[in-house]
Amino acid sequence: MSNKKTKTVKWGEEPKLGMLDALYLPAIVSGLATAVRHAVSGKPTTRQYPEVEPEIPPNYRGVHRLNRDEQGRVKCVACYMCQTACPANCIEIIAAPAPKDDPHWKDRDKFPATFTIDELRCIYCGMCEEACPVDAIELTSVYDLTGLTRTEMVFDKEKLLSVFDETVKSGKDPVRTNRGTLGPASEVAPTGRQGPPPPGRGKHG
Ligand code: SF4
Ligand code: SF4
Repeated sequence: MSNKKTKTVKWGEEPKLGMLDALYLPAIVSGLATAVRHAVSGKPTTRQYPEVEPEIPPNYRGVHRLNRDEQGRVKCVACYMCQTACPANCIEIIAAPAPKDDPHWKDRDKFPATFTIDELRCIYCGMCEEACPVDAIELTSVYDLTGLTRTEMVFDKEKLLSVFDETVKSGKDPVRTNRGTLGPASEVAPTGRQGPPPPGRGKHG
């Protein structure tokens, strides 16, 4: 390393503590001053949740949903891309051959017989929706996840489809859906905004 480069390095000196600092008095006084300043400012700083819902950014990554296609079937084609991409290993899929005797499914080779996401293990990174080639999985702006047991927080296919139904019904489609494409992987497949499921959808959901 040249001398010129060495000179650009600045070494920090550990600050020397006086007696007052060692007793934490300045920090305590500063903390109290901040508390008093907020108390007399008259501005409310307490969130009145759940009476007042917080404003969620449109690109918030919350609870997952499994999308339905135009026929109301689960849009997932059981390709395992999301499961492979997931850094938290919280997606588990079991694929099954599409029922060829059912005219509803003649255009599909596979579908997810089971599809689970451990919502407590998930780190809400969005890698799954980026990886999905058919825009079947999305993270929604639903944030108020609750459950009494860990098992309850492992969402199965039906639960994930019900999140789709609920978010479509309440007009809370993720902003990424409205944009038309979710990520690089989705650009190879035709995409579009999903509508509500038609009444007579296939029995495999
Ligand atoms: S958001 Fe990230 S951690 Fe959660 S399921 Fe998707 S890929 Fe896994
Ligand atoms: S990447 Fe998409 S299509 Fe593939 S298994 Fe996951 S949700 Fe289904």
